[in-house]
Amino acid sequence: MPTFRFNALSDVLAREPKEVDYPSNRASNYYATNVFTQEVMREYLPSEAYKSVMASITDGKKLDRKIANQVASSMKDWALTKEASHYTHWFQPLTGATAEKHDSFFTPISGGRAIEKFDGDNLVQQEPDASSFPNGGIRNTFEARGYTAWDPTSPAFVIGKTLCIPTVFIAYTGEALDYKMPLLKALHAIDNAATDVCQYFDKNITKVTASLGWEQEYFLIDKALYNARPDIMMTGRALVGHDPAKGQQLDDHYFGSIPERAAAFMKEYEIEALRLGIPVTTRHNEVAPNQFECAPMFEETNLANDHNLLLMDVLEKVARKHDFRVLLHEKPYGSLNGSGKHNNWSLATSTGVNLLAPGKNPKTNLRFLTFFVNTIKAIYDNADILRASIASAGNDHRLGANEAPPAIISVFIGSQLTQMLDALEKNVKAGKMTPEDKTELKMSIGKIPQILLDNTDRNRTSPFAFTGNKFEFRAVGSAANCANAMTSLNVIVAKQLIEFKKSVNVRIKTGLSKDEAILKELQKLIKESKAIRFEGNGYGDEWVQEAKKRGLSNLKDTPRALKVMIKKETKDLFKELGIFSEVEIDARYEIELENYILKLQIESRTLGDIAQNHIIPTAIKYQNVLIENVRGINDVFGKKSTKLAATQIQLLEDISEHINGIKEKSEKMLEERKKANKINSSEKKAIAYCDKVKPYFEGVKYHSDKLELLIDDELWPLPKLRELLFTR
Ligand code: ADP
Ligand code: MG
Repeated sequence: MPTFRFNALSDVLAREPKEVDYPSNRASNYYATNVFTQEVMREYLPSEAYKSVMASITDGKKLDRKIANQVASSMKDWALTKEASHYTHWFQPLTGATAEKHDSFFTPISGGRAIEKFDGDNLVQQEPDASSFPNGGIRNTFEARGYTAWDPTSPAFVIGKTLCIPTVFIAYTGEALDYKMPLLKALHAIDNAATDVCQYFDKNITKVTASLGWEQEYFLIDKALYNARPDIMMTGRALVGHDPAKGQQLDDHYFGSIPERAAAFMKEYEIEALRLGIPVTTRHNEVAPNQFECAPMFEETNLANDHNLLLMDVLEKVARKHDFRVLLHEKPYGSLNGSGKHNNWSLATSTGVNLLAPGKNPKTNLRFLTFFVNTIKAIYDNADILRASIASAGNDHRLGANEAPPAIISVFIGSQLTQMLDALEKNVKAGKMTPEDKTELKMSIGKIPQILLDNTDRNRTSPFAFTGNKFEFRAVGSAANCANAMTSLNVIVAKQLIEFKKSVNVRIKTGLSKDEAILKELQKLIKESKAIRFEGNGYGDEWVQEAKKRGLSNLKDTPRALKVMIKKETKDLFKELGIFSEVEIDARYEIELENYILKLQIESRTLGDIAQNHIIPTAIKYQNVLIENVRGINDVFGKKSTKLAATQIQLLEDISEHINGIKEKSEKMLEERKKANKINSSEKKAIAYCDKVKPYFEGVKYHSDKLELLIDDELWPLPKLRELLFTR
């Protein structure tokens, strides 16, 4: 008997929730205690130095060496009070995970003594041994190296015994090798463009900050079961496994009470997260069994994104303590809901105004409409760029499946705003408007309610939805670094705002008043971008047909979705706004394709292994049991045995059929993989993996799942889906 699976199960059944060491004081007292916050900095730094750092945070001014030394020294002093012994530059290479290389503060000096040392050079710049991070051909291993450089806009923090310093990762030749660098540039671009447009409404606005509020979904799985499933261990998802009799149909997990062991885990990661200054506030069950969500208060985008990456790390670390593993994969179980990471996005001014919140009067509502309509137009013009920004092997399973947003990018705004835009489209008169026309328009603009009805009853099937005072980009994958999506979104909106300002200025030059020029331009944008607005059911087949008629793209897989990255228009856009050089885009394209290929290659190998080494041998073993049984019946009953052993004989045949099926499918998959691996161009190779290798996954799974139903439960070597999902 294969005891492995049963040991794993009995391990799980014996587990109690872990004790959580609750801090005795309230959360507000330990919030951000592991962060080198502005408050701490003010306390530790001479006031001159503090002012310089703040200037470099707000205006991007370069810090001089002396100040850098002071900051480093105070950071170290503070970190030592937190018992840190090491420091690291913390960065976001294009592998998707975060990376760090630890160095010790400890420095021996003469006379057999030692001190703790950390100076400006160590703070500002470091050279990780970076040759093994993906670079898409930018940086030949033998030539230039890469370096990390301090990002003072995101505060340093202590995790365990290490001081972590958020940094960007750049090649010596200047190209970005990470996700943070382009994000910072995109945030700068949207700041400039939006601040510029804001001058129409309020000259006091000096800065616009893009905010991000993410909602992280994930699955929990017991570590014993995880370890007994090679597919989940190697790829993050179940490649085989028959659907359990009960899935999520009953919806009894959603907002149900959180199971005790999971609750203990949540308490602990929340304490960790709060200490790290991640303002987590919400936790609840998700739709699928063992699926959960965590969401913080929104923050400035760069910081919010660092916090998301940090949280993903914290989740994994704390989960292990509770004998869980966290699955961040977009689709761990084929038939259940997948996991996403909604990105709530808005723009806030230095004067404290949310530019995407309807205002109280016609003037503020015109401002709102300006940013609202320009965002919609940006999505319309650049839907493919947005689609590419969320493309990944994992997310391919989710987009377009029956619970996730479709792969077709569209915008939901709700009925009230739809009426508003329709009215603007109709009522802004061509030619010069009379004062009465204007008054009437202003009246109607003034009527946008601050609380929109659709905000509560909103369309969950839309990939990009307006939710009252922000847009929610729902198609981002749960495992993704949000920086990719946020870079693209902020860049395309920045570009649109730049064009808007130009066009409005031209209209003003022809003699229109400012408001009239804005209204006329908005009317034009509303008309042009109408096709991207969709209020219906995004999961329905009718939408696929309708979207096609409207000329919207439906890019269903990663290789096809990524292709827009290397189009001339895309390159020009990113170049114009100073985000990427052509070399950088080409490199990123290569890296994304390479990631995709590797993921599918690993899945295909793992699936082949499971078929060959787990499933087929188990099926044969069970056939031997049946054969023995048939033989015994024959010995006892002689002639009558053909009838008496009919079931066993039929089973033997059925099992043989599926053994042959699984064997044939996995061999064909292997052949296709070999062919694909010989292809030199990454683009063609990715397409070969997508079109030729991947389709066999289903076939292998089909026969494996049939065998799972036929074979004695005791012999089956892998924990079944019902066990993964319902044992606790
Ligand atoms: P759900 O989508 O699960 O129903 P909500 O609509 O309540 O959740 O969205 C909550 C998320 O939106 C939170 O993460 C919150 O921080 C974020 N959010 C709220 N206001 C903004 C804003 N102005 N900018 C960015 N994110 C925001
Ligand atoms: Mg949401």
